[in-house]
Amino acid sequence: MADKLYLIKEGEISLKGGNRNLFEKRLRHNIKDKLRPYHSEIDKQKGRLYAYIAEEAPDSLIEKALSTTSGITGFAKAHKAEKDMEAIAATAREILPGAFPDKGTFRITVKREDKSFPFSSKDIAIKLAEVVHGIYPDLTVDLDNPDSTLTCEVRGEVYLYTSESKAVGGLPVGTAGKAVLLLSGGIDSPVAGEMMAKRGVKADAIYFHAYPYTSEEALEKVKKLASIIAPYMQGLRLFVVPFTDGQIHIRDNGYEEEATLMFRASMMQCAERIAKAHGASSIITGEALSQVASQTLEAMSFTDSMTELLVMRPLLGMDKEEITIRAKEIGTYETSILPYEDCCVVFSPKHPITRPVKEVVRRHFEELGMESFIDRAITETAVYSFDANGREIADE
Ligand code: ATP
Ligand code: MG
Repeated sequence: MADKLYLIKEGEISLKGGNRNLFEKRLRHNIKDKLRPYHSEIDKQKGRLYAYIAEEAPDSLIEKALSTTSGITGFAKAHKAEKDMEAIAATAREILPGAFPDKGTFRITVKREDKSFPFSSKDIAIKLAEVVHGIYPDLTVDLDNPDSTLTCEVRGEVYLYTSESKAVGGLPVGTAGKAVLLLSGGIDSPVAGEMMAKRGVKADAIYFHAYPYTSEEALEKVKKLASIIAPYMQGLRLFVVPFTDGQIHIRDNGYEEEATLMFRASMMQCAERIAKAHGASSIITGEALSQVASQTLEAMSFTDSMTELLVMRPLLGMDKEEITIRAKEIGTYETSILPYEDCCVVFSPKHPITRPVKEVVRRHFEELGMESFIDRAITETAVYSFDANGREIADE
């Protein structure tokens, strides 16, 4: 097959002991799932995965797929050479033209895993440096901070590559159990989802929609965010829960300053129902300590008490600046700042309480009798599905 080859580096997985196999199997499965449109074959050898991909598949799409797959720290488009010094030099001669800039510095990095290869790393490096100089006479060597690097890995076979890309790192999605992500249209929650995916959590998303108080555009925005984070999360479903009647009931029957808390308690209970129906055992939110009134310790302690599931808040200790940087990196920021209001904003009290007494607000929540609203919202929930490459697909 005239396929191209990507060499893939595992990160944290290599620190795993007895269950390393499970992590590697999952990673391989996830990569295969992402590369499905490109007819890939994946091969595994000690600490490396090799993906053989149809020649016509666009590099940019392959790179997007690999760079968003957690469990991978880096990857490189590589070329195989025969295990022979002259053949290695010949392959280098083939791949180098056009790969480096004409001016500046370079280094050769040799990883000689196969100790039976009769030449030392130094021998190989000297040979390859000669090849580089033959093609780029003006380049000089800089071992510490080179502009360009030619890497040669001598393993079961020999691999050469001239540039390496970084990926997200972390652990493969699906190795840490299942969760539901409370996804609003804001900056924070998509980042929270990506962060937990990076630790191996498989999550579906839930959005509470208060149409017509929140517009169709607000829903489109959340769908767009779901499609952007889907590659990091190895695909996801987005459950859209219509909660307008519940919101109105809270507004008309509750204490105004507690409205947000009552809504958040309802969200937790809905999320728990959806989670349990789909085998998930935790809830992810984009809350950060003291960012807004409902994110004080007292308020979160109350919302926590509304569900028996573990509530994961990966942004708890981050400030807005840090979260924004991450949102820009993962590509959600530009969508998150589009102006459509989310339902919290529309129903927000002017003076929300910041230090609720748990027992009191719990009693107020019970008095509101939200069960029937929650039941109905669950029945009327719509589902959208996004594949591991972020494309919307018809739900199964
Ligand atoms: P974000 O930027 O993620 O919207 P935020 O700072 O605006 O967060 P809140 O609006 O108080 O904070 O929401 C806190 C968290 O509650 C969100 O990060 C999200 O996980 C969840 N959440 C809020 N509104 C919704 C909603 N309409 N649907 C689903 N989850 C929501
Ligand atoms: Mg919000």
